[in-house]
Amino acid sequence: MCGIVGYVGKQKAAAIILEGLKRLEYRGYDSAGVCVLQAGKLDVAKKAGRVEVLVKEAARHKFTGTSGIGHTRWATHGGVTDANAHPHVSSDGKLALIHNGVIENYAGMKKFLAGKGYTFKSETDTEALCNLIAYHYAKEPAPKNGGSRFLESVRKALRHVEGTYGIAVLCADCPDEIVAARKASPLVLGVGDQEYILASDAAAIVSRTQNVVYLKDGELVHITPRAFAISTLDQADVSPVVDTITWKVGDADLNGYAHFMEKEIFEQPQALENTMRGRFAEDGSTAQFGGLNLSAAEFRQIDRLLFCACGSAWHACLVAEHLVESFARVPVEVDYASEFRYRNVPLDRNTLCWVISQSGETIDTLAALREAKRKGHRVLAINNVVGSTIAREADGGVYQHVGPEIGVASTKAFTSQLLLGAMIALYIARMRDMSFSDGVQYVQSLKGAPDLVRTVLKQAPKIRKIAKKYAKHADFLFLGRLSLFPVALEGALKLKEISYIHAEGYPTAEMKHGPIALVSEQCPSVFLVPKGDVFNKIVSSMQEIKARKGPIIAVVTAGSEIPPGVADEVIPIPDCHPAVLPIVATIPVQLLSYYIALERGCDVDKPRNLAKSVTVE
Ligand code: GLU
Repeated sequence: MCGIVGYVGKQKAAAIILEGLKRLEYRGYDSAGVCVLQAGKLDVAKKAGRVEVLVKEAARHKFTGTSGIGHTRWATHGGVTDANAHPHVSSDGKLALIHNGVIENYAGMKKFLAGKGYTFKSETDTEALCNLIAYHYAKEPAPKNGGSRFLESVRKALRHVEGTYGIAVLCADCPDEIVAARKASPLVLGVGDQEYILASDAAAIVSRTQNVVYLKDGELVHITPRAFAISTLDQADVSPVVDTITWKVGDADLNGYAHFMEKEIFEQPQALENTMRGRFAEDGSTAQFGGLNLSAAEFRQIDRLLFCACGSAWHACLVAEHLVESFARVPVEVDYASEFRYRNVPLDRNTLCWVISQSGETIDTLAALREAKRKGHRVLAINNVVGSTIAREADGGVYQHVGPEIGVASTKAFTSQLLLGAMIALYIARMRDMSFSDGVQYVQSLKGAPDLVRTVLKQAPKIRKIAKKYAKHADFLFLGRLSLFPVALEGALKLKEISYIHAEGYPTAEMKHGPIALVSEQCPSVFLVPKGDVFNKIVSSMQEIKARKGPIIAVVTAGSEIPPGVADEVIPIPDCHPAVLPIVATIPVQLLSYYIALERGCDVDKPRNLAKSVTVE
């Protein structure tokens, strides 16, 4: 999770690194640190707390060096303390290291190194690796072929690592050099004008260059002032591929909004338009995708789909399951990626796997992809971040094109995943039984989704008032049926994530099997109440809650009549096609969570204990 930034160039490194860390803070924000190499010394400033705390600490150091590394931490091993913050410096003072991931065999390493006289100042797994590199550096003879002793010592140490890492290392003897490497944690190298900027994601790079090289697992990069070279753990040279980042600096700015979450909620109409652009067939009756790498004939052979993901993306999978099964009549299974990777699931030969991850770096989803591929299945991906590891390792897939999502709680990426699920359902349905005219109607409905979302967003002031009224409650229920059950799960997750209120998402009719015991005047229920077959059943469930004095906030499709006195608050949403309904119904629950969190004074964009893109297991 954590943010990594490294700089080698002609400018003062510290300012550039701190600026990069601010842009990466959404990836982890327990503590932050920076190390600059100046006058042959590794000078470190690090502090528990946010990057702004580090900025003050760094000012006291008056850094002037032109190479350095910086880190924002999401603690896995050891508490949130100054000592555990990165960078870590080896006990001989030669090497400084920042690390994203987990060194699983750190205990054995520490024991070995302690026996060799190395000492430790922190409780982290990372410091063990730092000292292991120092150990190899001390032993390493100067390479005969003009190679780098620094690089070779990092390579040697990494061969002993079990676990995951994205690392960047400085060496006191090697001014203006960084060695970095990755295994299951992202690293991108920005190639600028006489400078290199390394980061765990492109957000820290775009302000300096749009030319980037994505490092692959098992690769190391050695950066020197005039060049960089990529090689593998086995010492094979790798020819770099320079890509261009398509988004611009302003895409990752607040642009007048109070929070990224607010900005991203209100950006959804545009985000949905971007997700759809160019993805409908000319006859207007189906979807088309450029990068599936699967012919229509191959697609037709598939008789089962598996969707795997984590968190909000898993909720999007559940909606996709509902739509694919309803419209395309193909059986779908949905699994948590974290479970799938260890479950040894029997999969039929004609099963097509989909993995969904906004960042394309979610470690469990990446592992699920690899497990499905190992079993010989084709795996397609839905990702937002172009060039991400999952996007590169999948056999094909679809990009979301919603621009950077910075708010830790997913909003626009989630609704865009819902939209892509609906488009996949259409694509498969039109290969099977869906008629041309039903296809045209479906496409028209999807195209109308952004305007419907705009209509719901106009209700923000009303939802804010409701939020004010209920913000003090300690428990909430979110209830939905069919395709809106996953939206109930998502509503409960949003509320938990950003306002720390205990919330449960349940299928509406299931609440009688347990959660109704929670109901009291103190526990509001958010009901998702679409028109349709089960409308009256949902209203009965509402009556049951009301009979027990539970306050009710109802999200209701226009034209439906809830009997008087049943709902305390009604948030109307437009009546719409079933493929669009989950998207439209999501907006009120996002706004409700956002405004409740504001009322409670929570740090909406950086909720406690969380970080964007979960890259550790
Ligand atoms: N495992 C390391 C630690 O706890 C790295 C955590 C991170 O990825 O931020 O310090």
